[in-house]
Amino acid sequence: MKERYADIIVDISHEKVDRPFQYKIPQALADAVCPGVRVHVPFGRGNQDKVGYVVDISDHTDYPKEKIKEITAVDEKGISAEGRQIQVAYWLKRQYGSTMITALKTVLPVKQKLKRPEKKRIVRCVSAGELPEIIEQCRKKHQVARVRVLEALLTEEELPYELVRQKLNIAPAALQALEKQGYLRIERESYYRNPVRQMSRQEERPCLNETQEHIIEEVLADYRQGRPGTYLVHGVTGSGKTEVYLGIIEQMIAMGKQAIVLIPEIALTYQTLLRFYKRFGDRVSVMNSTLSMGEKYDQIERAKAGEIDVIIGPRSALFTPFANLGVIVVDEEHESSYKSESSPKYHARETAIQIASLYGASVVLGSATPSLEAYYRTALGQYKLYEMKDRPGGSVLPEVCTVDLREELKQGNRSVFSRRLKELMEERLRAKEQIILFLNRRGYAGFVSCRACGHVMKCPHCDVSLSEHRNGMLVCHYCGYEELKKMKCPACGSRYLMGFKAGTEQIEEAIHREFPGARVLRMDADTTRTKESYEKILSAFADERADILVGTQMIVKGHDFPNVTLVGVLAADLSLNQNDYRAGERTFQLLTQAAGRAGRGSKPGQVVIQTYQPEHYSVVHAAKQDYEGFYEEEIAYRDFMQYPPVAHLLAVLIVSQIQEQGKRLGEEITEMVNCEMGSRAGFQVIGPTEATIGKLNDLYRHVFYVRHADYQVLVEVKDRLETFCRQRELKNQTIQFDFDPMTTY
Ligand code: ADP
Ligand code: ZN
Ligand code: ZN
Repeated sequence: MKERYADIIVDISHEKVDRPFQYKIPQALADAVCPGVRVHVPFGRGNQDKVGYVVDISDHTDYPKEKIKEITAVDEKGISAEGRQIQVAYWLKRQYGSTMITALKTVLPVKQKLKRPEKKRIVRCVSAGELPEIIEQCRKKHQVARVRVLEALLTEEELPYELVRQKLNIAPAALQALEKQGYLRIERESYYRNPVRQMSRQEERPCLNETQEHIIEEVLADYRQGRPGTYLVHGVTGSGKTEVYLGIIEQMIAMGKQAIVLIPEIALTYQTLLRFYKRFGDRVSVMNSTLSMGEKYDQIERAKAGEIDVIIGPRSALFTPFANLGVIVVDEEHESSYKSESSPKYHARETAIQIASLYGASVVLGSATPSLEAYYRTALGQYKLYEMKDRPGGSVLPEVCTVDLREELKQGNRSVFSRRLKELMEERLRAKEQIILFLNRRGYAGFVSCRACGHVMKCPHCDVSLSEHRNGMLVCHYCGYEELKKMKCPACGSRYLMGFKAGTEQIEEAIHREFPGARVLRMDADTTRTKESYEKILSAFADERADILVGTQMIVKGHDFPNVTLVGVLAADLSLNQNDYRAGERTFQLLTQAAGRAGRGSKPGQVVIQTYQPEHYSVVHAAKQDYEGFYEEEIAYRDFMQYPPVAHLLAVLIVSQIQEQGKRLGEEITEMVNCEMGSRAGFQVIGPTEATIGKLNDLYRHVFYVRHADYQVLVEVKDRLETFCRQRELKNQTIQFDFDPMTTY
């Protein structure tokens, strides 16, 4: 019989996580020992009896066999909270490929002994009736920040300090000034104890409609009957999904269960968080990237100690170690930020489902534009689908029109604004309503295209677009290839080859030129280097201190500007030019979300989509706000190409210091994989080739893809390659795995 060994972490105080010790698994315990189980082991020189956690199991050891110690016994108490975290880490490692240490560090927070920060809250000191006059005085003095705080205090007697600082973007000085004036008081108390005191509970709860009631009831009925499932709520923004989450969570808490709510960082807005605070008071906590390690650790401790019931946050909030988790909500389930970009490259949706199964918890997914993955699985009957078609407030969906940019040029219009858009912009400026201009330019800085036919100048070696430089050269930023900018389009011969200098900056200039007097705010990677500047721009726009907001995809997410009645998408198809099987999906999502920004208030909204490919199905269906139509075409394409979600795709990235070595290693392992597993039906290896970004930070990148309908077959491929790497003891080279990648390499 084969010997088996267990990696054991003897002290789970987390600093020691990176030091597992290997023990032999005695035959008698073979069945009982698995990752996450607590065991007794003899430790150190004196063979003291210690308790440890099994984190990994293998059939090889680097120790001399006669020296290795044996596990003494298995702890009978079952799997603890920590044990479950370890099981999750083990699953991440198996499912996505990484070392166990990296997986553990993903799941367990780093313990740090830091001084506990104070938690503060802002308490109103005057009656709500007195406020309007005070607000009016501040407004006259143009104290906009103070106006924002006081307005927030109109409805709330007290507010969490953090929320006001970060989400309302109020400087401490403004708060101190208001405190001095006696309008409010800043109260301090121990953070750990009480992050947010019970807030005024007089929230106006809407009376839920039938659909909402029905979803809540079904999810909970399944749960109570011991059949927790995965549910997808498909509904436009504002259709009442959050109300459904709140309803489910409330009843879970009543049963003594806890909830994890995942919201993409960018959508963690003041309004959303406030709703959770109001419903659950001091039993809710927020996790986000602005928290220090020490603060994160505190959150975890509070969750473990049973002091909170709900945690809200981005991807990493998933690993909060609740004792009795009842439900995980994944809002905006289609967001690509749910996929980790570093190893283990896990997807939060899939991981949520795994964690839920360990706890017997339910999973509720929500989106206005569900991922192909989620929608496909509702079609397979794996998830239950709920549609929420209408907005309870009754505000109507915007009217969308598509403009063909090729036609504009034919008519002699060389502005970045089509005639239709320009006309509507003038109308809106006159009416003192606001406008959002959205430039979809992911990955495209300064590319050059033909204004007559839409042809994009590309690098002959890399299949990425070339960027125009000031000296008239076109340069590939990925491989360094250069060529002189041509006079004529190679595809159609037109002379209108234009550098779409991409920039939001250029758009801003164009606005100043064509709409003198309009007040413009710009939001892109350059203007939002710091977190604060991001919130600042948003609140300035919300305060109507600008007429037009220009920006990249970051402006289309979840913000509510009731006075915005026109959204212009300046070049809708840019993201379609990517060499990427998800390009159509991403374009559809962006366009639909951008359109959703218009007419959120009582006034109806209009949307203009400018594009070179008005006939592309992503554009056509987005203009009609027709998700099902889009889904049908997209899934047919994925099925035909055997792309996810119909089949699965594993990207294997080989990173090496020497280009030739990487190339050879790629050839060697694809041949090995083909040879050992290639006879399975539907098994396909694509590549190896140089990656799209062939060289990054002086390291050469080669990639190949393995495609198969069964995910577990791809896991086998990964396991085989990990063994290969261990045996080969690769130097100067690493292999990385990405399952069902979000982009192509
Ligand atoms: P979503 O999460 O889908 O964007 P929300 O739950 O935030 O939608 O609801 C949008 C707005 O409609 C909120 O202001 C909410 O209070 C309100 N709302 C939700 N459900 C109802 C309802 N049944 N009746 C009236 N208003 C509702
Ligand atoms: Zn190139
Ligand atoms: Zn052309």
